[in-house]
Order: sequence, then C-alpha cells, then structure tokens
Amino acid sequence: MSGKPSTIDHRPSTIQAILIANRGEIASRVIRTCKKMGIQSIAVFSEADRHAPFVQQADTAVFIGASSPAASYLDVDKIIATAKKTGADAIHPGYGFLSENVAFAKRCQEEGIIFIGPHAKAIDAMGSKSKAKVLMQKNKVPVVPGYQGADQSIKTLTKAAVDIGFPVLLKATAGGGGKGMRIVHNKKDIKTAIEAAKREAKSAFGDDELIIEKYIASGRHIEFQIFGDQHGNAIHLLERECTIQRRYQKIIEESPSPVLSDALRQKMGEAAVQAAKALKYDNAGTVEFIFDEKTKDFYFLEVNTRLQVEHPVTEEITGLDLVQMQIESVQGLPLTIQQNEVEGKGYAIECRLYAEDAANDFLPVTGKIQRFEIPKVEGLRVETAIQSGSEISVFYDPMIAKLIVWDDSRQAAQRKMQYVLSNLVCLGTTTNQDFLLHVLKNADFQQGNYDTHFIKNKLDLTAFAEKEEAAVNCAAIAATLLGWHQREQARTLLQSIPSGWRSNFYQHQSETYLYKEEEIKVAYRYQNKSAGQPVFTCIIKEKEYAVQLIEANDQQTRLEIDGIQQTFNIAKDQQNYFIHNGQTGSIHVQQKERFPANIAKKVKGGYEAPMPSQIIKILVKPGQKVKSGEGLIVLSSMKMENTIEASEDGVVEEVYAQEGANVEAGFLLLKINGGESMVDGQ
Ligand code: ADP
Repeated sequence: MSGKPSTIDHRPSTIQAILIANRGEIASRVIRTCKKMGIQSIAVFSEADRHAPFVQQADTAVFIGASSPAASYLDVDKIIATAKKTGADAIHPGYGFLSENVAFAKRCQEEGIIFIGPHAKAIDAMGSKSKAKVLMQKNKVPVVPGYQGADQSIKTLTKAAVDIGFPVLLKATAGGGGKGMRIVHNKKDIKTAIEAAKREAKSAFGDDELIIEKYIASGRHIEFQIFGDQHGNAIHLLERECTIQRRYQKIIEESPSPVLSDALRQKMGEAAVQAAKALKYDNAGTVEFIFDEKTKDFYFLEVNTRLQVEHPVTEEITGLDLVQMQIESVQGLPLTIQQNEVEGKGYAIECRLYAEDAANDFLPVTGKIQRFEIPKVEGLRVETAIQSGSEISVFYDPMIAKLIVWDDSRQAAQRKMQYVLSNLVCLGTTTNQDFLLHVLKNADFQQGNYDTHFIKNKLDLTAFAEKEEAAVNCAAIAATLLGWHQREQARTLLQSIPSGWRSNFYQHQSETYLYKEEEIKVAYRYQNKSAGQPVFTCIIKEKEYAVQLIEANDQQTRLEIDGIQQTFNIAKDQQNYFIHNGQTGSIHVQQKERFPANIAKKVKGGYEAPMPSQIIKILVKPGQKVKSGEGLIVLSSMKMENTIEASEDGVVEEVYAQEGANVEAGFLLLKINGGESMVDGQ
C-alpha cells in the first residue's frame, strides 16, 4: 500500500452538504448561497450563539461548545468531528477564526473534507508578511520599500530603518487585523520601538519577527478581489477602496475607487493577477495595495487568502456570487468568466455598523440590541448577525451589520446610504450609526478626498456626537410621554380620567433625565384631548412645547411637537432610554430618579477594566516596582487586545484580577501605591 492518503480521489463530484465553521453574518451569507445551490447547510454554534439568526437559518445546527472561541469556533477537533457526524463533504471557514489557518486546511484534506478556500500552500505562503513580500518581489509585484530579512538583530533592523528613511513602519510578520504595527519618526526612537514591537509581537502572535516598511504618509488602501481556479486561470474582479479606517481597520468600503483612472486600474489589476498567478491561486482572495496619492505609486501589502468582510461591494457591482464561485472552484470547475468579461456596473458602498463608541476612541461596547429594524430602500443589502433582542457579547467582534447600497453613481449611492443610516433603527447600546452618517456627510469624503488618516485628522470625534438642544429636548419629551402612555395603559381603573390629570390639574408633573452630564427636566401637563388624542404642554428650561400624542406603543411614540409630526423609536433598559429619530439620529438619556445614589466609588491608584473583557495576562506582581507607561495587565475584548499601562511610577499594592477571568467594565484590576478609597463627588 502506498503511504499517501487517497482521500481526494474519493471526493464526491458535487458537494451535498457544507459545514460553516463560523458565526454571525458570514455564516448567514454562506447559508444563503447554499440554499440557492440546493446544498445542505450545517451550522455549528457556541453557547452565546444558541439563539442567533444563522443557527435558525441553517438546515442543521450543532452545538459545539462554550462561548470562548477556543472552545468552539477555533476547536479543530470538534469541527472536524461534527463535519463527519453530519455528513458534510466540505467546510466553509468564512473569515477570521480558522479561515487562514494552514494546519486546519491541511487537516480537512487529510480527513477527506473539502476546505472551501485556496490550496494550503497559498495560505502558508501568505501567512507571513516577510515571506509574502519576498515572493511578490520575485514575481515583479511592486512591494513597499523596506526590510524583510531573516537577520533580526537590533543592529541590522536599525540600519535597515535608517537606509529606508524615516518615517518607517514596524510590522509583526505574523500580525494581522491592524495589530502589532508601530510608526517610528526618527532614529533616536528606533531601538526602543523595535524592542517594544518585538515584545508585543511575541506576546500577541507567538513570534517576534518584524519587517520594516517605508511609511506612506498619505496612503490609500486599495485592494483587488482575485479569483483563481484549479486549471491555472486567474482573474481580478476590480478594486475596493478601503481607506476609511480607524485603528488600521476598515469601516467603509466602496467600489469603484474615486481615484483610479482606467489606466491605473488596469495596471494595479494586472499586478493583482500577477500575485494570484505567483501563488497558483485557486479560489477567492484579496490583494491589498497601499496607494501613494502624491506619487501615484502603489505597493503590495498582503494577500488575504479568504473571503473578505467587504466582498459584497464587489458582488454588487459585478453581479457575481463569490461564495458560489468559491464552492464551484473547490469542486474543480473552471472559472466561467474571463477577465475581459468582468464589468463593474454602477457604484456600491458598504458601511460596517459596530457596537462601539466613536467618541471614546472607538472602544467596543457590549449590550442588547433591543430593536433592529431596517428601512425599506431599493438597492439596500443588509448582512447581519443579529435580530431584535440579540446580545453583543464580549466574546466576538462587535460588528452588528454590514449595510451595502448600490446605485448608478457615487453621489446617488451616497445619498441612499445617508438615508439608510438616518432611518435604520438599532437601539439598546452605543453604536457607530451616527458616526458613519457623520462621515457620509463630510464634504471631503463625498469628493473622495481622503487618506487612511481621514478619521483621525479630518473629523471631530467628540463634537459630532453633540446633539442640538432642540433634538435632545424632543427626545426627552418622547421618553416622558411614552412613560405617560404606559402608565395610562396600565391604569385599569378610572379609565376615563387621564393619569396626570387627577393629581392636580394646575400642577406640572416632571421627569428628569441626564443627557451626558447635563440635566434635562421635562415639566409637562395634560391639557385636553384634540380629536381623541391627548395634548400636553411641556416645558424644558423655560422653553414651552405644544405636544400632541398621535400614537404610542411600547417602542414608539409619534408626536406632533409645535405642529411638526415626528416618530421616535424608543428602547428602554432600566433607567436608560435609547431614542432614535430619523432627523436627529440616536440620543441616549438616563432617567434621573432611578439612578443608584452612590455608584461611582473610585479607588485612588486603582486601575479598572475600561470595558467588559477577558484577562489575558497579568504582567506585574504585588510588591513590584513599576514605571509610568509600563504594561500592567493585558485584556482582550471583542478580538481587541488592550494593555493597561501604569499612569505613574509606583509599587503594585494588590492585584485583584485573575488570568482567564471575564470581568465587567469598571472592575478593579489592581492598585498601585496604596492610595485611600475616596468617593467621587456625587
Ligand atoms: P494587517 O494585516 O494588520 O491588516 P496591513 O499590512 O494589511 O496589516 O495594513 C493595514 C493598514 O495599515 C493598511 O490598510 C494601511 O492603512 C496601513 N499601512 C500598512 N502598511 C503601511 C505603510 N507602509 N505605510 C502607511 N500605512 C500602511
């Protein structure tokens, strides 16, 4: 018997059942194409995802473990065993998790299961930024000038940085998702930066190898979708402009790019196909370039050997189904489209809706999305992980949905996206919905005039969240009258007398809210009924509003305020009101009375978890001396690692956190210098 497993020979000629080793919107996306092709879909899910939409949508759904990815979506043995048990002949890995894991791709092959992605060698070749650059350079694909050698001594790296010329960018070769990068502006900082980058890379990726690149100060991220088959054909499916980023991560993607001429598109596309051919690429992939606006040069950054988050943008302009093409390709079918047949029609834009606080450095937040309602707009495509009532948990990426619109022109699509962002109802926690709208309304963005620093340099990240007084007042009135309506409904006795009327006709009732730090007191009085609808006078800071309650239910009030009718969507969570209105966006107020009296007990010298997190590593021990800026604790929340650093020199007094534990926001992690407890001025 020859030693080589012959499993490939036994592959069925057509795939009957696909297991999706992923979750959320991408699992739903793959299921959709499976249904279209008549393929059985098998979802695997964790504890946290038991009630998720993708679990309901799949033909079969199998529980595979606890919420932490390591116990479920990253557990190769469980996934393979489930595929075998359920008779799946193929596995689609989606993006993230196991999608670019060479060992997993190989394991699938060994087990006779088709991995829906490129061959393992291509994944391996692109898994390291240094190896990828060397290979591309060999194949005449322009790469960013830099150093990607094996000699990793400080001396060699320093010399390389000097030769490249500052500013330079240090990158972990094993890095990804925008992690492990550092800009260095001058020679005096290079040694410390290299040392710190190596430490970071070692702890985050288990490998401290670095590459150094010329830092392109005014760069745009432009990527090309590539596609190959098992017969040596490789094409590109045009570009996606992904320059609008925060933390080196994309949030808005569009196609076509507003800055590519046909000639440049052709040149970059050819380079992308060159990259695909160099890898004998046989599935969906993305070649990322950084484009220097000043010189019009473009340089290879990396190849992502999987389906990309932003693939719908390409699907919308080309009319292709990339998931279907992936499935066809792994079955050995040749590409059915040639390069000269690829045509981009119109314009598509995608916004990633996240549970995150743009006004607080884009930190992710958790919470329950109590209401999620998509406006009906022609040409709108929504890829979402959630439905009303879904939790955004600490375990996964906090993306709520991808909103994709298509139209004939960039202007028309932008207008449509603004309409969608104004009218989408997503209430229950902080999201970047208003922030995305703020970007869409920016004149520079509209004209395509931006680089990767656009968000940081061109947008005011706190002022955008400030709502006008009138908007806040109207939201507070909406919350108040919803409360009135609910009490009114609850009153079964004395039905004929409206509540608030009984107590004292002449006296105003009031509700007080906090909007940020500001107190909003709504004094209101029931006046009469007009055509069967209650009419109120509301007063906020001496401003009087004539308000008619047109309609109300548990989640919505429609009010006529000084002659203008407006609908307010409202989600209530204890004392929190999340209020959305199509004209003014989302406003969060807290009802004052129900505030716990003394919540903010701060400990001097105490370091708290800034958000719900898992404790990854504790870097210090009690009694240890620490210097300002030194790392204390590494936390992870929603795929983001965050090192808590000492804000001053001192001695660690106590450590309250435990490695591996999950903690809430505000959890006291450790104490330095042993200050006394003090109560915040409440
Ligand atoms: P990752 O694998 O972590 O996503 P990439 O190499 O794809 O890292 O880069 C992510 C982002 O970082 C790019 O989209 C771009 O904004 C920025 N970037 C990467 N390399 C450079 C460079 N040489 N100069 C300027 N910006 C860069």
